[in-house]
Amino acid sequence: MIRLNDITSQLIIYHPKADTSLIEKAYVYSAKVHKGQVRLSGVPYLSHPLEVAYLLTEMKMDVISVVAGLLHDTIEDTDAELSEIKRLFGKETANIVDGVTKISKMPFDNSEERQAENMRKMILAMTTDIRVILVKLADRLHNMRTLGFHVPEKQISIAKETLDIYAPLAGRMGIYWLKSSLEDLCLYYLEHEIYEKIRAGIAARSGARENFIRDVKKLLSERLEKAKTGITIKGRHKHFYSIYTKMKDQNLNVDQVYDLLAFRVIVNSLKECYEVLGIIHSMWKPVLGRFKDYISLPKANMYQSLHTSVIGPLGQRMEIQIRTWEMDKVAEEGIAAHWKYKEGLLADKTDQKQFAWLRQLLEWQKNLRDPKEFIEMVQMDLFPNEVYVFTPKGAVKEFPKGATPVDFAYSIHSEVGEKCSGARVNNKMVPLRYQMKNGDIVEIITSSKQHPRKDWLDFVKTSRAKSKIRHWIKNQERDESIILGRSILEKGLEQSNLTLPNIMKNEQVSAVAKDFSFHSIEDLLASMGYGKISVNQVMGRLKPKLGIEEEIHTGLVSKVVSRLTRKKSTRGIKVKGLDDMLVRFAKCCHPLPGEHVIGFITRGRGVTIHKYDCRHILDVDQERVVEVLWEPSAQDVYLASLKVTSLDKKGILADISAIMAQKDANIIQAEVKTTTDKKGVSFFTIEVEDYKQLEGIMGAIKKLKDVLLVERI
Ligand code: MN
Repeated sequence: MIRLNDITSQLIIYHPKADTSLIEKAYVYSAKVHKGQVRLSGVPYLSHPLEVAYLLTEMKMDVISVVAGLLHDTIEDTDAELSEIKRLFGKETANIVDGVTKISKMPFDNSEERQAENMRKMILAMTTDIRVILVKLADRLHNMRTLGFHVPEKQISIAKETLDIYAPLAGRMGIYWLKSSLEDLCLYYLEHEIYEKIRAGIAARSGARENFIRDVKKLLSERLEKAKTGITIKGRHKHFYSIYTKMKDQNLNVDQVYDLLAFRVIVNSLKECYEVLGIIHSMWKPVLGRFKDYISLPKANMYQSLHTSVIGPLGQRMEIQIRTWEMDKVAEEGIAAHWKYKEGLLADKTDQKQFAWLRQLLEWQKNLRDPKEFIEMVQMDLFPNEVYVFTPKGAVKEFPKGATPVDFAYSIHSEVGEKCSGARVNNKMVPLRYQMKNGDIVEIITSSKQHPRKDWLDFVKTSRAKSKIRHWIKNQERDESIILGRSILEKGLEQSNLTLPNIMKNEQVSAVAKDFSFHSIEDLLASMGYGKISVNQVMGRLKPKLGIEEEIHTGLVSKVVSRLTRKKSTRGIKVKGLDDMLVRFAKCCHPLPGEHVIGFITRGRGVTIHKYDCRHILDVDQERVVEVLWEPSAQDVYLASLKVTSLDKKGILADISAIMAQKDANIIQAEVKTTTDKKGVSFFTIEVEDYKQLEGIMGAIKKLKDVLLVERI
């Protein structure tokens, strides 16, 4: 078991001036709070934080990291309070312990492959201090090393999580040995048989392999030393997990991969890289298509090297990498180099920046001369523009910073977005404009009564939510405009004494819509509703299509003109002694041609024609009453209203309509009511040419069997 002394003495090696008193204090504290607790293996729990702290010294971490390593499980597993840790060990230590605890509590769901990448990003995004991840990785490595004490199901789920999330993170952090260790342990638990085969095969051939490596090194150095000095050659077998992925990717069986050896030739200058490549290719036959020049074309993560595969002295493949010491340093420190590449993915631009930053950080970390500067470096925001949150089921979703539950809802489905009425974040209700934070568990509450609101546009961040909300509002406004447009058109029709039973399907209205280049009647009505097109414009087009002539304009000039042309008396009435009088028909009594009528001279509005017995005319100034006569040649139509009282029988309406049609009268309006004493009362407005025609119609209706009364109203 690791002891405190092991930790401090190793720390002193790379950090001679370190003050280890805080480490001692943390050891005492950790021992106190973990007292009585045991690991699954039966050893005192304290052994775990000690191992983690020791691993952190192997990673050459600073004092605070080691202290945090000793305390990393105190919040989750003991009665210790974060405030106490802060008081005793400072804000930074408390922040790291808090971060590690939060990562441990995250509800990761590894049922979905693509979740892993987001999960890694979330861990990085949640981390304002890179040391949180390094402590977490050390913690995970020790847990993986002691995984054997768990039940098999737990072993598999922890190994999966480690392979999906923590091994890639270790690679990203540039700690390649840690990544390989985690991967090999995962392979041990996840593909145990294959792991054993690889291990046995490598062990069995270790002697032969060592000899082979020595032979190749000797051959290479003899040839190279002639030309160059100061060249270093490294030969090694790949770690188990990378042998395993080679087998899978290249479809090799276990026997074929034992001989997969990799050599690395490290030279002093860039020029020598190509010279050495030439020499190697002249010694052994290169494998076609395996040469890669990452020097002239570095990888996105700045990795540089020449890669080639050749058929070696015993006829087997060998991989050879050639690079300078400088390039080797970058590659060895992991610095990003392997991570994305190994997974066959291309790093995007943001990642490139992060890689560059991490490289700088890790190089800097080695020196540890100015702790303050180090802290400033490590406390940078790794993913400043993104926020990662969980669904209630543990899936990770990525959003732009500042995104709200409404963005979240729209990312699930546009219907969820539209009906989104509230949200619970970490089980607490939040307003819809709440800005989500890394690690939040977000649950959307929907309501069938809810609909998108214009003010949502003020706070949503994703373009998806924005465009969906705009689209909805636009549609909504259109629906309202159609309704408005329709009522405007109906009023316009009413003013012209017209009704169209079904505007939305009317042929003439459809033709008007086409005239205005609209695709549909709805478009025309919407446009009227928006006020882009006036009812007069529409009526102007509609009337001719309905067979109605354009109205004579009533401007001053046209009034004069119409007065001059009125001599012909198109109205079919003649005022005695005044041929060119403007004539109107009274609305109170609707006189018809042939009826006994009388005229009334209005002030400025010509003569109004009333029926002789109209009660209105009896009340007026008799001096202004004039005699009028019907002109025999009248051809206009006049409106007449009838009230028909009948027994409430089916078919009566059809009989009445038939009579109207027979007598050439147009029905403008019809309304039927039933009285309480089971009588039917029908009201008709019809067009007739004269009184004679109306009399004929009324007479015919009266003769119908069930008709009780016909009246003019
Ligand atoms: Mn732990």
